This record gives sequence, structure tokens and C-alpha cells, in this order.
Amino acid sequence: MSVKHLASIKRLNLLYEGKAKSIYATDEPELVIQHFKDDATAFNGEKKGTIPNKGAMNNQISARVFHFLKENGIKTHYIATLNENEQLVKKLAIIPIEVVVRNVVAGSLAKRMGKEEGFELDDPVVELYYKDDSLGDPMINRFHVHSFKIADLEHIRVMEVEAQRINNMLWTFFDERGILLVDFKLEFGLHKGELLLGDEISPDSCRFWDKETNEKLDKDRFRRDLGKVEESYRDVMDRVLK
Ligand code: ADP
Ligand code: UDP
Repeated sequence: MSVKHLASIKRLNLLYEGKAKSIYATDEPELVIQHFKDDATAFNGEKKGTIPNKGAMNNQISARVFHFLKENGIKTHYIATLNENEQLVKKLAIIPIEVVVRNVVAGSLAKRMGKEEGFELDDPVVELYYKDDSLGDPMINRFHVHSFKIADLEHIRVMEVEAQRINNMLWTFFDERGILLVDFKLEFGLHKGELLLGDEISPDSCRFWDKETNEKLDKDRFRRDLGKVEESYRDVMDRVLK
């Protein structure tokens, strides 16, 4: 899309107000604006707060990561960054499944499997969660997807394969920046019949640990009241943009 055309895109009505982002319609029916907010929530919305400058930092981090993935052949919704907190993306019919990829045991997996956080897995683990706040996003598998008619199983197979390809690329991308990619969550959706990676990749949706010190540089600092939340997001941003 040309620069001239980009500048003329108009933001219209709010389509969806999420916990960390808002989605606005534009005068191009197939495009929407993803607005990143400073609001942060955890434990299915039970804990609420704000992280100063988070929206602007996640907007930049996610744009850089999506650009990197696009350069490496991943089809994504990202088109362009419009301003501090907003990016123009292709409008998706989001598939209500969160794909989580894990390289190191942490968070809910540590609890479920009774392992210490930090245990490095021999091979990545891919999990599916049903995106439904009222149910607390339960973990599901392909049988649930099929029997409850949540999504097309062929799409799920592609999402799982793409998630593993993305993991391989991002592992190296973050490793080169001194960051251990512990785990992360992806969302996909359909745009004119094509399956694209959507949403964001940021310290809100990934676990990032400093490679040398294992210090947490992500939303766990907010979830667990560890302090230095804004500083850690900024550290990730500086390393990602380098
Ligand atoms: P939540 O919905 O969990 O509160 P967010 O605050 O991140 O999460 O809200 C952003 C919403 O926008 C999410 O529900 C996500 O699925 C959706 N979304 C992400 N990318 C797109 C897109 N390209 N088109 C339409 N919706 C999108
Ligand atoms: N995650 C996310 N959104 C969710 C649930 C999880 O972005 O609704 C991310 C989370 O930040 C972490 C990974 O997915 O990077 C795995 O999360 P986990 O299942 O351990 O859940 P948590 O204990 O973080 O709620």
C-alpha cells in the first residue's frame, strides 16, 4: 500500500473494545486499525491495572516482529504502523482458538505437570485454548474443536504447523537479542478466505527471560507484582528494535 494511500485512511467507529487493544473500522471495509492500550489484565480479568507506555511499546515490538515474520514467509494481518499506538491491519474473522507454543516450562504448564518453572522441554509443546472469557479460556484438543464445531480442523492443522515454524524463527530472533523465548500465544483469522496470523506478539503475549540472568521481562512482572514492569517492556523493545 502506497504512503499516499496510507495517509488518507480514515479511522471510523469502534468495532471491538478488548482488554489490551481496541479495533476500529476504517473507510476501507477490509482493513481495521488495531489500537494498543496501556491497560493490563491478568487472571481472566480479575487483576486490572495500567502499565505506562505499554501501548506504544507493544505497538512497536509487535510491528517489528510481524515484519520479521513476513520477511520469512509467514502470512500476517500487519500492513503498516500509523502512529504511536495504532497499526493498520487486514480485518480478520478471528478463529476462537489461542495457539500456545512452549519451549520452557512456565505458568499454567508448570502447575498442570507439577514441574518447576525453567525446565527446558526436549521438543516444543503446542497447545490449543478455546477463546471464551466466560469459560476462562479452557485448554482443548482437536476432538473438542471437531465435536463442538469450533473451527475447521484443516485450519487448526495449518495453525499448529505455522505456530511451530514461527517458533523456530522467533527462537533465533530473540536468542540473538539475549532473550530466551519461554512460551507465547498466537491468534489466527480468515481474510478473504486466507488464513493469516493476527493479533500481537509482545511481552503481553509471550514469556521472555533474559538469557544470562533468567530475569523475567514480560507480563509476569505485572501478574506477580515483581516491579520494574515498564522498564522490562522497554528493555525488550530496545533489544527488538536494535
Ligand atoms: P481480548 O479480546 O482478549 O480482550 P485484546 O484486548 O487484545 O484481547 O483485543 C484485541 C481483539 O482483537 C482480540 O479479541 C483479537 O482476537 C482481535 N483481533 C486481532 N487482530 C484482529 C484483526 N486483524 N481483525 C479483527 N480482530 C482482530
Ligand atoms: N497467554 C496470552 N493470553 C492468554 C493466555 C496466555 O497471551 O489469554 C500467553 C501467556 O502470556 C504465556 C503463554 O500464553 O506467554 C502461556 O500462558 P499460560 O498457559 O502459562 O497461562 P498464564 O499462567 O500465563 O495465564
